[in-house]
Amino acid sequence: MRELGVGLIGTGYMGKCHALAWNNVASVFGDVPRPRLVTLAEVNADLAARRAAELGFASSTGEWRDLLANPDIDVISITTPNAFHPEMAIAALQAGKHVWCEKPMAPTLADAIAMRDAARASGKAAVMGYNYIQNPMIRHIRRLIDEGAIGSVNHVRVEMDEDFMADPSAFFYWKSEAASSYGALDDFAVHPLSLLFCLFGHVESVVTDMVKPYAERPLKEGGMRAVENHDVASILLRLGSGLSAVLMANRSAWGRKGRIALQIFGSAGSILFDQERMNEFQLYQATGRPEDQGFRTILAAPHHAPYGRFIPAPGHGLGFNDLKIIECRELMEVIDGRPGHVIGFEDGLRIERAVHAMAQSFRDRRWVEVDGNG
Ligand code: NAD
Repeated sequence: MRELGVGLIGTGYMGKCHALAWNNVASVFGDVPRPRLVTLAEVNADLAARRAAELGFASSTGEWRDLLANPDIDVISITTPNAFHPEMAIAALQAGKHVWCEKPMAPTLADAIAMRDAARASGKAAVMGYNYIQNPMIRHIRRLIDEGAIGSVNHVRVEMDEDFMADPSAFFYWKSEAASSYGALDDFAVHPLSLLFCLFGHVESVVTDMVKPYAERPLKEGGMRAVENHDVASILLRLGSGLSAVLMANRSAWGRKGRIALQIFGSAGSILFDQERMNEFQLYQATGRPEDQGFRTILAAPHHAPYGRFIPAPGHGLGFNDLKIIECRELMEVIDGRPGHVIGFEDGLRIERAVHAMAQSFRDRRWVEVDGNG
């Protein structure tokens, strides 16, 4: 692979995470050229210049469109709020850049389809930021399921909970705008969906209930503003394989900080995983004497690839930002024309279709089939 020139749009929570990945991917993996961090864009030139100095970019701009015409930039990370994704991703793909876009694709299904179409037309890599599928523990769970370690899987539950919106006095910001998202569905449920997709395939039908714990939130400038989406969602799903699943998502769950709890039940055992303890999972195998049976804990170790690229010592642990470094490595595979373990815009669109079916189900108070059409 030749050296990649990188552009970055947005430098908040995820922007920093992408920048750390671009800064570290060559050092961790050793088998890819060190990316050149060319230009980052922020909402104004001063902020952009400050961030460029912090994050190691050679130049900066207050106008993201400057990245499009720059021939030194091969790939653009898009880490802005959801509503900006379609315009930025489509413009980048049309300018001949590869795209690494944060989840979800777009607030509307029409825009997500347009993004997928732009990716198809460009022939460039177009990859979503579904970092949780990159955890070596999740990859190992997938292997165990494929090998039949817990028999035939018959039921899955996945819960995603955090408490960053649990405080009723927390200020209103873009995550509570309907123009940005449905809330718990495309902010949160998409992550569990990415795990379900990688472990068990696509979703066929859904039924959803949603809750808005707080009707309004205070504005920084004073006064209150009505909350336009829902922070809590409960969903029953049928997957294409016939498997039944339950998905719960809550952005207002006091005490939960980064929980993505998977429970997978099979005919010969169970697997439990929680992202809050992302370097381990529990395996129960119903073999041997009943009195000896119980869950055993498996700790992350170098034989759980690519853990060993980070650290040679077992049980010492990876962190959230490391998942983005792995995702960056997989993106580079795709850019280089090899299959990468990523969710691209094609499969990303299947997740968006599931999310919009969930919203439809809530509006109509009924089961909804997920449209599987191209
Ligand atoms: P954030 O508010 O922390 O950061 C957004 C950044 O974009 C800010 O720095 C803002 O100034 C900048 N920005 C906004 N408009 C811009 C424009 N026109 N040009 C240039 N910069 C602009 O938000 P965040 O929490 O980082 O979320 C960003 C995206 O990442 C969202 O789509 C969110 O869903 C996603 N996200 C993904 C994960 C994950 O685990 N993959 C986690 C959190 C957020």
